[in-house]
This record gives sequence, structure tokens and C-alpha cells, in this order.
Amino acid sequence: MADYRTLSHQQLEELRRELVDRYEQFQQQGLKLDMSRGKPAADQFDLVSGLLDAVNSQSSLLAADGVDCRNYGDFTGIPECKAIFCEMLGVSFDEIFICGNSSLAVMYDALGKMMLHGVRPGAKPWCREGNLKFLCPVPGYDRHFAITERYGFEMIPIEMTPEGPDMDQVERLVAADSSIKGIWCVPKYSNPQGITYSDETVRRLARMKTAADDFIIMWDNAYAVHDLYPEHRDHLLNILAECKAAGDPDRVMMFASTSKISYAGAGIAVFACSKGMMERMKKLLTIQTIGFDKINMLRHARYFKNLDGIMAHMDRQAELLRPKFRTVLDAFERELAGKGVAEWLNPNGGYFISLDVMDGCAKRVVQLCKDAGVTLTSAGATFPYGRDPRDRNIRVAPTYPTIPELEQAVALLCICVQLAAVEKLLRD
Ligand code: PLP
Repeated sequence: MADYRTLSHQQLEELRRELVDRYEQFQQQGLKLDMSRGKPAADQFDLVSGLLDAVNSQSSLLAADGVDCRNYGDFTGIPECKAIFCEMLGVSFDEIFICGNSSLAVMYDALGKMMLHGVRPGAKPWCREGNLKFLCPVPGYDRHFAITERYGFEMIPIEMTPEGPDMDQVERLVAADSSIKGIWCVPKYSNPQGITYSDETVRRLARMKTAADDFIIMWDNAYAVHDLYPEHRDHLLNILAECKAAGDPDRVMMFASTSKISYAGAGIAVFACSKGMMERMKKLLTIQTIGFDKINMLRHARYFKNLDGIMAHMDRQAELLRPKFRTVLDAFERELAGKGVAEWLNPNGGYFISLDVMDGCAKRVVQLCKDAGVTLTSAGATFPYGRDPRDRNIRVAPTYPTIPELEQAVALLCICVQLAAVEKLLRD
């Protein structure tokens, strides 16, 4: 099929009629599908059903250090659970803190602490300063942007490249402006593009000169072990080690959770940082809580045993997810390639596929899909303030629907992408 941008007005009119026909057939089917959020499907949970039996009334509830998990104690987490995350994130025992059920809550809280108290050793509370800014690589995770919006930061979009955020832009901005306090990063299998930051990007983030002496990298490694192809695992450089080597160990706070490993919203979240920052975080956290849920930590540690246990489980999970990603990507390739109407990346892991439709068409595509019964993430959600300046990015979340549902949803999506493009070409 020819590139739609080369078609005559008459050819476009014919194409539009044909696409509308196909679209109306979908409308008549009365579909009701939701592809808006990156939720795990139930068969993923079935893979870890043993987790619920890993600790029961017959089990010893003593952690490896003898602390009774039913009682207060082990404020920073039980050792066997810390060991797993230390290995996952490449940090030491005194650089990790095991929290509750949600890494997003930990990130929200960490930024709140920076606003109210200052967290980096010697840092002043940001709330005492005037206009604050935060760098937001785009497309990115809507809930990150919601946090910095809520705290009143002015958000500056940074273009993503295949290597991570555009570091020329980042370096230029942070060197010149001390009101830029940090950057959001999903460094491995990024949400939504599935991009893993290159070694060069990680080193530049660690070494760049920042006008703010309390600049913080919010390193949300949510998809650290979420490879789709076990024979090809993306490698991510250890940013804490790079920050130490660059002489600024307090520049980064790392986050992760088992929400997309065990149970979404009922797993374990962690943060990791330099010892200096950890001391400060502990002082602040000890006022907030006497400790997090150690029984859930014990359950996870006994069930997975170690990082190898998690990796083996994630490889089984990938077997469920690969065909779903393939269903979407094959349809894009079959229906959209070569027509000049869309671009997408083929991720090696993570939870999403990022689709760029023709400029000015994303809202229309999402609306067309909605009117035919398929809910997608709203257009613009992947940008600060929900504003995609080119109105072109759509986040596709293939994990939750079944494959037959996905086939239907993506067939409709492909028709809507083409229809919106043809409508635009006819208008222009
Ligand atoms: N970070 C990223 C990049 C995510 O995509 C998600 C969920 O989609 C989360 C964090 C949420 O994690 P949690 O359930 O641990 O709060």
C-alpha cells in the first residue's frame, strides 16, 4: 500500500469511505474493551499463587535475623527481602529501604520530604524557594507528572531519544537554572516506549553539572526485571555507582516494586540511595511509621528465595506477555507500515507499546476507538499537564486483555489511525 500522503484527493475519498465502512462494522459489534492502563492479567497472578501459601499459621514467622515479623522491628526491612532487592538494584544493605505496597506512594512521599524538609545532606526545604522546575522526559508516565504537578513544579518536557532523554537538552538546562530541582527517569523499558537508557546517558546524568546543588534524579526502575525476551535482556548501568564515581552519591534516589512481578498494589516497594541520604530518610521516616508490613516481605522472600527465583518467574511471565505484544506489533506492521500514518517502537521489555500517529490525530483516534467501544489511555496523558504539543502519542497497554480481545481492539485501533490520518489529509 502506498504512503497515504502521496494519494490524490479522490483516492483519499475512496479510502475514507472504505475505512468508515469497516469502522461502522466494528461499531455494530458493541465492543466493550479497556486498554487504558498497564494492569497485569489474572493469568499472571496465577503464576505466583504459591505466594499466598509461602507463609501460613504453621510457618515460622521469624526473619533471618530472628526478628518476629508479627511484631515491630527491622525498621528498614527484613534481611532476606533486602538481599533480593540489593541484588536487583546493585546496592548494599545500608543503601536499601523496604517499604509498603506502592513505589508511587514512596516517590510521592520522597518528593514531599524534599519539599518540606530537604533530603540531601545539607539541603534546604524546597518549599522555601520560589518557582521550582522539574524535567519530564516525554512521552513518560502520567502519574509521575501528576505528582510534580500537585507539588507545584513547572514541568519541562525533554524529548526521549532511543538512548534515553535528550542529554544535550538536559545538560544545557540544568547547568543554567538552579530552580530545576530534578528529573523523572524510568530508565529500563521506559513507560511507554520501552527504551533502556544507554551507558552514555546514565554516565552523563551522573556527571552533568547542575546549577542546583540539591538536584535529584528520581530513578523509577519499575521494569528492572521485565524482559520480554530472556535471550536478550537489556542492560542498565548502575546509576548509584556512577554518581559515586562522579563524586555526587546523593544525586539519585532509586525506586522499584513487585507490583508487576507479584501482585499489583499488594506487593513490595523499595527505595535505594547513598548512605548519607538513607540516614536522613530514616530520621524522617521513623516519625512517620514504626515499620512496614514484614509479613508480606517474608512471604515474598520465602516464595522467590533470591533474584534467580524472581528471574525464573519473570521468564514464565514473559511467555504470557510475548504473544500479546506480538499481536499488537504484528497488526501494526500488517496494517500501518509504509502508509506514513504511524510510527512505533518494538520494546524488549516493560509493559507498553508507544504509538505515534500522524501529528494532530491522537485525540481523534482515541475518540474514534472510544465511540466503537475500546477505551485507550487518553491522548496527551504521556505528557506533562496532559498536553501533547503534537497530539500524536498514544500509549498502548497490551497486558490486561485476552489475545482475542487484543486482536479486536488493535484491528479497530488500526482502522481509527488510518481514518484519522485520511480525514486530516483531506482537510489539509
Ligand atoms: N512506576 C512506573 C513507571 C509504572 O509504570 C507504574 C505502574 O504502572 C508504577 C511506578 C506504579 O508502581 P506501584 O504499583 O509500585 O506504585
